[in-house]
Amino acid sequence: MVSADVSICPKCGGALKYYGMVPRIVRTKNRATSWVKIRRLRCSGCGAFHRELPELIFPHKQYEAEVILGVLEGLITCETIGFEDYPCELTMANWKSQEPQLLLWRNPYLKGETEHETYTCGGRT
Ligand SMILES: [Zn+2]
Repeated sequence: MVSADVSICPKCGGALKYYGMVPRIVRTKNRATSWVKIRRLRCSGCGAFHRELPELIFPHKQYEAEVILGVLEGLITCETIGFEDYPCELTMANWKSQEPQLLLWRNPYLKGETEHETYTCGGRT
């Protein structure tokens, strides 16, 4: 199974090979959670692992992107129906302090990270 949408390593430009699926929990509104499967890819050039992140999630975050962006934009607060104490105020404050980083993830071309395991944005053509 080779898909055409993700095929090049962002580090070295080598070909990416499908390397299995990893489950990922996503928290949405009204305290609901769902599991999504993320494709893990390995570069045949430099050997780096990459995870193909769907649009709806941020790396290292359990909440879906829509919720996080809503908080960053001030559309979701502790008083918003469906979000009372969820996420908690501390989590919201945490996201706001990470805002520049989080917004950077939305634009893969600005990424300059050098972690061993990096993420790529799925659905990019
Ligand atoms: Zn590579």
